[in-house]
Amino acid sequence: MAKKLLIVESPTKAKTISKYLDQDFKVVSTSGHIKDLPVSQLGVDVEDNFKPRIVVLNSKRKYLRKIISEAKQANSIYIATDPDREGEAIAQHIKEELPEKKPVKRLLFYEITPQGINSALDNPLDLDYSKIDAQVTRRILDRLVGYEISPLLWTKIKRGLSAGRVQTVALRLIEEREQERKAFKSEEYWTLDFILAKDKLELTARLEKIKGKKANISTEKQAGQIIKDVESHPAVLTEINIKDRRRHSPPPYTTSTLQQDANKILGYSAKKTMTLAQQLFEGVDIDDQTIGLITYMRTDSYRISDQAVEETRQFLTDQGKAELIPPQPKKYSLNNKKIQGAHEAIRPTSVYRTPEQLKSKLPRDQLRLYQMIWNRLVSSQCKDSKEKVYTLIFSVLSKYELRTSYTQVTFAGFREIIDPDVIAKSSSTIDYSKFRKGEKYKIKDCQSQQHFTQPPPRYTEASLIKQLDSLGIGRPSTYAPIISIIQDRKYVYKQNKALVITKLGEVVSQYLTRSFPDLFNVNFTAKMENELDEIEQNTKTKNEVLSDFYNPFKHRLEDIRNNPVPIEISEEDKICPLCRSKMEIKKSAHGLFLVCENYPQCPGKKDVLTDHPPPKETDRKCPKCGNALLAVHGRYGRFLKCSNYAKCKTTLPFFMNIDCPQTECDGEIIEKQSSKGKIYWRCNQCDFIIWNKPTNKTCPSCGFKLMVKKTYRRNNYLFCPQCKSKIEDKDDVE
Ligand SMILES: [Zn+2]
Ligand SMILES: [Zn+2]
Ligand SMILES: [Zn+2]
Ligand SMILES: [Zn+2]
Repeated sequence: MAKKLLIVESPTKAKTISKYLDQDFKVVSTSGHIKDLPVSQLGVDVEDNFKPRIVVLNSKRKYLRKIISEAKQANSIYIATDPDREGEAIAQHIKEELPEKKPVKRLLFYEITPQGINSALDNPLDLDYSKIDAQVTRRILDRLVGYEISPLLWTKIKRGLSAGRVQTVALRLIEEREQERKAFKSEEYWTLDFILAKDKLELTARLEKIKGKKANISTEKQAGQIIKDVESHPAVLTEINIKDRRRHSPPPYTTSTLQQDANKILGYSAKKTMTLAQQLFEGVDIDDQTIGLITYMRTDSYRISDQAVEETRQFLTDQGKAELIPPQPKKYSLNNKKIQGAHEAIRPTSVYRTPEQLKSKLPRDQLRLYQMIWNRLVSSQCKDSKEKVYTLIFSVLSKYELRTSYTQVTFAGFREIIDPDVIAKSSSTIDYSKFRKGEKYKIKDCQSQQHFTQPPPRYTEASLIKQLDSLGIGRPSTYAPIISIIQDRKYVYKQNKALVITKLGEVVSQYLTRSFPDLFNVNFTAKMENELDEIEQNTKTKNEVLSDFYNPFKHRLEDIRNNPVPIEISEEDKICPLCRSKMEIKKSAHGLFLVCENYPQCPGKKDVLTDHPPPKETDRKCPKCGNALLAVHGRYGRFLKCSNYAKCKTTLPFFMNIDCPQTECDGEIIEKQSSKGKIYWRCNQCDFIIWNKPTNKTCPSCGFKLMVKKTYRRNNYLFCPQCKSKIEDKDDVE
């Protein structure tokens, strides 16, 4: 029997595929990329058409040896790495290393299911060299930028830093948003909601206009004046608007929209989403079957195969939901994007594998992501939803205009998939068809509320991906790595979901964007991404793109080396913490720091690259020498250090000044940080431990001597760990 070898890049994928192939197939995996540019050299010959030196990775030699020995015995060889540029490049790397003269065929598996595997086997292809060129061009561009620019950061700011072609632009977006936030001037404004009553009916209407103009109420006094003005007068119903509105069914998921929703709805990072999606794609064990549950997860296509559309429509019919099926299958198109051949959106491989059925068979996180993908496919093939929007406009003294509006869902359409009760939930106890113009309402009460205009919010992973996508500077394979790397480099950290730039990130971003304004620039980066697409479509060559890029880049590098751009540190950061004089930028082996201009008279020094607040003196005394202890932020959280640290090396854990609440323990509560960076508190003597910030309040219900701070829906309260009772937290200022 003829022996066939099939090579993939992932062991899980290999395992799933082998279950569906005949005995004469042998399936092996490379465990990822096997070749890349060398680690310690540029590896690109810029004098010789940017020829890359792609070498076998040391860690992959054993996999390669196995593949070669299998290949020697095989009559036909198939490479079935992932169906995108990265997969194509791996395929090429494998092919280059195989014994010569063996025919090699390329298979594209868009889903790891019997039908996905069979249809690929029916259509064996040759390697796509334009795709490979696009991938290697990206790799070379990234290498040139990283390799040439990172050393500038080492000499100017700190050793070990890195710059990246797309990563730095993402960082720049975050940094510019932070500047906008700093420049933002918050303004006070008030809203007034009036309770209107007639017979037994009550409704709330908001003041929208005064004398035909938008109501701008900026002070409490103004608000009070209006209330006084309006109070004793009737509100006359002057207008009733009823509008029909349609909500369009959403397109199925692409990589970008899946990552956004998983972040918004499930709180997953882009990295976690991709890991889970890959598991679902490569195959999971369900009953006695191993099967890929979703189609390939790196895609920017909205296309759904005719088969999948047909299956979804049949499924809806089977479920007795024929009324949700549109007469024609829905098609979605992306603006400015070409049709991506066989690529499809991310969808379940069979809509008949419902999340309900898989409930006890998948780990929770996989199930939640699968549920989102499943809901989204089914929704995308349902009719639009329809609503009626009622708007009532009231007039007081012919001067003040109050409005209330109400939306009734009249046809659920796609919304029924996620929420079968959407119509009932949108129903009101008020019958809006009974209102008549000219009716008079009594003003029963007014709720005035103070607000402040908010600065533009910080990016979250979701909103950053959305922005990168809409600016054209991300691709399905790059969003997650970009977001991971700026965090790994400590340029950005996550606070709840927000991406917050660090001092280091700010200094690096400002230095790089001022040194290379044309390179770390949104338009330029979008143009480069387009040119990579053009290489794949054969409308540009690799060398055209690389030399167009390299010549101006080389000149700019020379300029910068001859006329370096100075590092800029904000004026507020340059104030000496000791004498309030200006500070000067200095550099040591550990990186940049600031020194007081009055040095050595004033010993003021400051680390500008870390965000830790400066050490603070505490009331505690050093047990060894009696000097005050300082509270210091370190890598492993807060701790106490003797203020006479030049002479005394005493360090102690951070004491909360709270006694252990356990009876018969006279320990104290200290703050600790887990290996994953989570802060917790424990007794320094017994095993009492708590994961919410403790206070020394005594529980009014049970007398337990410690309560913890908790937050629910932005309200702070104190919680008793012993009797679980809650009380209001009156002094929640930190
Ligand atoms: Zn000073
Ligand atoms: Zn001491
Ligand atoms: Zn204790
Ligand atoms: Zn209690």
